[in-house]
Amino acid sequence: GSYAQAAPIRVESVCPFCGVGCQLTYQVNDGRIVQVDGAPGPANEGRLCVKGRFGFDYAHSPQRLTVPLIRRADAPKDPAILTRGPGGRADAAALRAQFREASWDEALDFAAVGLRRVRDAHPDLRGREVPIAGFGSAKGTNEEAYLFQKLIRSAFLTHNVDHCTRLCHASSVAALFEGLGSGAVSNPLRDVEQAELIFVIGANPAQNHPVGASWIKNAVERRARLVLADPRRTELARQSWRMLQFQPGSDVALLKAMLQVIVAEGLTDPDFIAARTLDFDAWRAELIDGPVDYSPEAMAPICGIAPDLIREVARAYASSRASMILWGMGVAQHSHGTDNARCLIALALLTGQIGRPGTGLHPLRGQNNVQGASDAGLIPMFLPDYHRVTDPAHRAAAEAAWGLPGGSLPDQPGLTVVEIIDAACAGHIRAMLIQGENPAMSDPDSAHARAGLAKLQHLVVQDIFLTETAALADVILPASAWPEKTGSVTNTDRLVQLGRKAVACPGEARADAWITEQLARRLGLDWDYGIAPDGSGAEPGSAIGRVFDEMRSLMPSIAGLSWGRLLAQRAVTHPVLTPDDPGQPIVFVDRFPTPSGKARLVPVGLLPPAEQPDVDYPLVLITGRQLEHWHTGAMTRRSQVLDALEPRPSVSLHPDTIARLGLRPGGLARVRSRRGVVELALRADAGLPVGSCFIPFAYVEAAANLLTNPALDPWAKIAEVKYCAVRVEPVAQR
Ligand code: SF4
Repeated sequence: GSYAQAAPIRVESVCPFCGVGCQLTYQVNDGRIVQVDGAPGPANEGRLCVKGRFGFDYAHSPQRLTVPLIRRADAPKDPAILTRGPGGRADAAALRAQFREASWDEALDFAAVGLRRVRDAHPDLRGREVPIAGFGSAKGTNEEAYLFQKLIRSAFLTHNVDHCTRLCHASSVAALFEGLGSGAVSNPLRDVEQAELIFVIGANPAQNHPVGASWIKNAVERRARLVLADPRRTELARQSWRMLQFQPGSDVALLKAMLQVIVAEGLTDPDFIAARTLDFDAWRAELIDGPVDYSPEAMAPICGIAPDLIREVARAYASSRASMILWGMGVAQHSHGTDNARCLIALALLTGQIGRPGTGLHPLRGQNNVQGASDAGLIPMFLPDYHRVTDPAHRAAAEAAWGLPGGSLPDQPGLTVVEIIDAACAGHIRAMLIQGENPAMSDPDSAHARAGLAKLQHLVVQDIFLTETAALADVILPASAWPEKTGSVTNTDRLVQLGRKAVACPGEARADAWITEQLARRLGLDWDYGIAPDGSGAEPGSAIGRVFDEMRSLMPSIAGLSWGRLLAQRAVTHPVLTPDDPGQPIVFVDRFPTPSGKARLVPVGLLPPAEQPDVDYPLVLITGRQLEHWHTGAMTRRSQVLDALEPRPSVSLHPDTIARLGLRPGGLARVRSRRGVVELALRADAGLPVGSCFIPFAYVEAAANLLTNPALDPWAKIAEVKYCAVRVEPVAQR
């Protein structure tokens, strides 16, 4: 009985879900996590949301992969298997039956031989032409991300390595780099407590960054003004001082009208502009004297916000003592996502609302380690610490650190996520290594993505579940879940924290870093970190600590953060340049990290979304997440509490749209775009704009991304998954 049970072991770690980076304590009994408590970390002070508190049992799911699997010779890759089962979900037994069990030696050899075969068949191809690519993960540790990009770059001499940041904040990062010389946030999320005005646009933190939203709500209680700008009237609208429910895809029109008001009414900060920015005159000329009239009156018909409201919010933002901007996927995931972010940057620069407490620019990072994986170089245009692959000195430094011959790394960026999938469909990419990502669900136009994955000559997937992507693999390597690993992780605030191993991997599943090292050796690299199969301890001198210190040697932004210091302090914000630098939560205080030290204002034009509603497809589809489910659902749909709260896919529409289409809430609806069709339950949501619908993308049986548009932002190569044209029809109940 319970009286006889030993007291649970308590292990300190970090939440595996969103970018807020809440610290938590796992209570472990008999090798299983039995409870999760909030811990007093800088980002959460003991708070947790429903995912952090109840979403831990995925690690103990009976569906965990516990043994390496190799595809049977008589099992062809067929994406249709993913939805061929009860309720449109794959039959788990049928998925599993495609594979046979293998020993680790056999599986690793098989994985490496297939990759070598493709590599060696095309010795003449260089750089982005190399027919091999890797998708790493934003859900692992920094050390795992670092090792993964090092493996792809060293073994295949290509920068064809990317991860979900491409589908997430690539456009924000592109604009921030171009304008400010750095892609990270300027101020931590909790700086909302210092702000007088908080401008949240294209984000739904109450569902996607719930503890972050709790800080916003607290700030509002203490009299901060919250302006919420979003096509959906979401939960934070109740706390907001003003809600700007603008038309989907019209971000630039709304923001340029605000900028026009600020310039036309003399609400700028001329001293800041003169001292800290470049190109203001040209930028101003485009806005005020250019051919397009960006006044609120001219923009109101496009964005749907009354001119007076635009003026009121622009004045309040510009004149408050401290205004802070937070944004999410609603800004980023557009074919004009970079332009959207350029406008937000201009708002902060024009008014000097940056470089002080309670001000600045904060793109809310989605995954728990998307900041850290990007920092570590898991991107095709950057080596670790955002050193451009086009820079010969940085290439030489990486070659020296990695024992590669001088001049071996290519001098041009590799392919990005969507480009890699396109190249797979075209037969140019022939082999892939995918660690913990699920492009069969997360990529736009999923039918196309799945066809590309199925067409690969050799696909190696390293994951904890037989995901939709793993179901198309040639070999599956069973990997470690977050509570099974030790390593560092970097949250949306640039806060580097330590996660500690709480439980063992199930069965023969192995630590991801061990798998990467084993593959590297089989691909001819002389790695000798000596990572143990069940992962590393945290102690100084541990294998993971040595990986961290090697990574740090290439990353000036964490040069002052040794593994030993991280162990002692548990949470330090980068940049941390020297051992006595306490870390810099607020950056750009007196200069920007650009050659001139100044920021650039970049003019943008008015572009509509790539696909517009028409007679055949009259509604706009908005995709996104839900409080209970995380991204492609691989973890949360295998978490009993979370799955019980939201067990079925749904499409939400405004009640007026439902009535006009003759639909019935609770009934089944069919949603069709030019690329695919799904059937799912219909919900009424008066927060949605009339003429649009919303589908969360976590459900394979009605995968939202079967419908989405793969049109790319030209600057950042992010796809427009927030906007495409669909039609919704009733389905006769069976
Ligand atoms: Fe985890 Fe984010 Fe929730 Fe915190 S807010 S508990 S990091 S999902």
